[in-house]
Amino acid sequence: MQDADSPLKTIREDIAAACQRAGRGTDSVTLLAVSKTRTAPELAALADQGQRDFGENYLQEALDKMDALAGRDLVWHFIGPIQSNKTRDIAARFDWVHSVDRLKIARRLSEQRPEGLPPLNVCIQVNVDDEESKSGVPLADVAELAAGVAALPNLALRGLMAIPRADSDDASRSAFRQLAMTLSQLRNTMPGLDTLSMGMSADYGVAIEEGATVVRLGTALFGPRPPR
Ligand SMILES: *Cc1c(COP(=O)(O)O)cnc(C)c1O
Repeated sequence: MQDADSPLKTIREDIAAACQRAGRGTDSVTLLAVSKTRTAPELAALADQGQRDFGENYLQEALDKMDALAGRDLVWHFIGPIQSNKTRDIAARFDWVHSVDRLKIARRLSEQRPEGLPPLNVCIQVNVDDEESKSGVPLADVAELAAGVAALPNLALRGLMAIPRADSDDASRSAFRQLAMTLSQLRNTMPGLDTLSMGMSADYGVAIEEGATVVRLGTALFGPRPPR
């Protein structure tokens, strides 16, 4: 039921309001529809309403949907953990990868990016909470990894991504602020970095106030996720 009561319009209004609070232009934020576990027809319904950017976590599921939606001029973002044996298909089929947290994976993505495609857009995933269980490079190691990724020929390093522990708006805000400060430090030596991928369904307004340029929304757009 995507038609009459599509949340897309409300979310776009919320994004515009947050941009206004932050004194930013509405087009400074890209809405990434996180479509893991959603069917190709559900994605098509959003695409029919003008949604172009889709984020996927599971490779095979994503490839099936890409095939089903071929010809629609969509932008595909890989946002999940990356195993080495998945890099070839990710490099060949995606436009963006938000979840690079090791140089080894970045090297493979660069080597495997097919000739004739533009460089693969990449964000480094940062573990802002320093939780042992989560993916992402620790804040202290971001600069070194960024320098390594920036040197790879077939990748375009665009910025940083994080999934902060979202237990309160205040906790999210301080994590977002830390990520924004880290990007701003990197920009001293890499002025081309322009992307802060942060903010999900529960906290995207706060993320935009703190400088997010990409917000990644699943539940807010599609409703609660079915079990996979
Ligand atoms: C699932 C997921 C999201 C979307 O989460 P919601 O809370 O449903 O908006 C965003 N980013 C990443 C990396 C995810 O895996």
